[in-house]
Amino acid sequence: MSITGNRQFATLPTTVFTVMSALAVEHDAINLGQGFPDTDGPADIKAAAARALIDGPNQYPPMRGLASLRQAVADHDRRFHGLDIDPERGVLVTSGATEALTAAILALVNPGDEVIVFEPVYDSYLPIIRAAGAVPRVLRLAPPAWRLPEAALRAACSDKTRLIIVNSPHNPCGTLLGDDELDLLTELACRHDIPVLCDEVYEHLVFDGARHVPLMTRPGMAARCLRVGSAGKTFSLTGWKVGYLSGAPALIDLVAKVHQFLTFTTPPALQAGVAYGLALPDDYFTTLAADMQARRDRLAPGLAGHGFEVLPSAGSYFLTCGYGRFADCDDTEFALRLVREARVATIPLSAFYDQPVTQRLIRFCFCKQEAVLDAAVERLRRYLTRG
Ligand code: GLN
Repeated sequence: MSITGNRQFATLPTTVFTVMSALAVEHDAINLGQGFPDTDGPADIKAAAARALIDGPNQYPPMRGLASLRQAVADHDRRFHGLDIDPERGVLVTSGATEALTAAILALVNPGDEVIVFEPVYDSYLPIIRAAGAVPRVLRLAPPAWRLPEAALRAACSDKTRLIIVNSPHNPCGTLLGDDELDLLTELACRHDIPVLCDEVYEHLVFDGARHVPLMTRPGMAARCLRVGSAGKTFSLTGWKVGYLSGAPALIDLVAKVHQFLTFTTPPALQAGVAYGLALPDDYFTTLAADMQARRDRLAPGLAGHGFEVLPSAGSYFLTCGYGRFADCDDTEFALRLVREARVATIPLSAFYDQPVTQRLIRFCFCKQEAVLDAAVERLRRYLTRG
C-alpha cells in the first residue's frame, strides 16, 4: 500500500493516556494514569445541561459560543483574576482546551516560525506546532523546582519567535509560575512582541492557600496573552470537552478563523451547563480545591511512606515521583511493570519529553476517591515489598 498519510501525524504513537488507560483495563489495574476524576461533576451543572438539551434549541449555536457562556467566562475572569474581557469579541468557546490550544497555535504561527515551549511539555502542543510547519524551541525545566531556565529563555527569544506556550498550574509537575517567572515572561514578550498562549486549565486546582496568577494580569500582557480554560477540570466533567479562550479581541478574532473550520461550534446544552457552573458562588471553587488538596495529601504520604521520592505539587491533578530506590530501568518500563504486576496505572514522565531523558520519574493522578487512592497505595506496598 502506498498510502503513508500525513508526515507529522502518521508516525506518532497513540497518546500515552489512551495507552495506559487501556492497559489499566486489560490488567484490572487502579488507574492513576490518565487525568480524570472517578466521580461525576456537580448534579446541578448536569441538570442545567439536561434542561437545555430537552428544551432546546439543539441547532448550531453561535460560532464563538453561546452569548450566556461568553458572558459567564468574562464575568469569571473578572471575579477571580480582575481581568477585563469583552464578552462579545474577547471569548471563544471550543470543544475542550485541546481544540483551544490547536486553534490558537494554527492561528498564530506560519511555517518556519519558532515557538518556545518548556518540557516536560503537555503532549498535544508539539505535534500541532510541527503540523503548522513551525519549529519548536524546546527548553527544559529541571526537577525538583522545574523553574523557567532564565538564560536559555532569554537566548531563545528572537525576531523568529512567534509564540511562547506556558502551562500553569503545570501538568505534570504541579508547579505554578512564580512572580519572578511572570515578570521574566512579561519582559521578554513585550520586548520581542511575542504572544503567549497560557494553558491555565488547572486554574482552580491550586493548593495550600496559593493563588493562580494569570500572566495576562501583568502590565502590557492583556494585549499579548490568550488564556485557555477547561470545564473538564473546573467542573470534573472531562468528557464534556468544553473549553474556552479569553483575551484581546484582535487575538481571539484570529483564533476564531481557525475554530470555524476545526469544529465550528460546541454542543449548546453543554455550553449552557458550563455557563451555569461558571456562575456558581465562590464556595464551589474553594471546595473543589480543598477537596483535591485532601486527595493529594492522602496519596503523597502513602507513596512517600513506601519509598517513592514525592516531589511537591502546588496545583493540578498530579504528583510526580522518583522511583530510583526500586529500579534502575527507564520510566516507561517501570510504568509498564507497575500496571502489569502491581496493577496500578501511572504515566512515565518521558511521555512529556521531545528528547530522551534519563531521570526516573512517574506521574500519579490523585483526582480519585480516597478509598481508591488507599487501595492503590496498598497494591504498591505489596508489590514493592514482595519477597
Ligand atoms: N490531560 C489528561 C492528562 O494529562 C489527559 C487528556 C487525554 O487523555 N487526552 O492525564
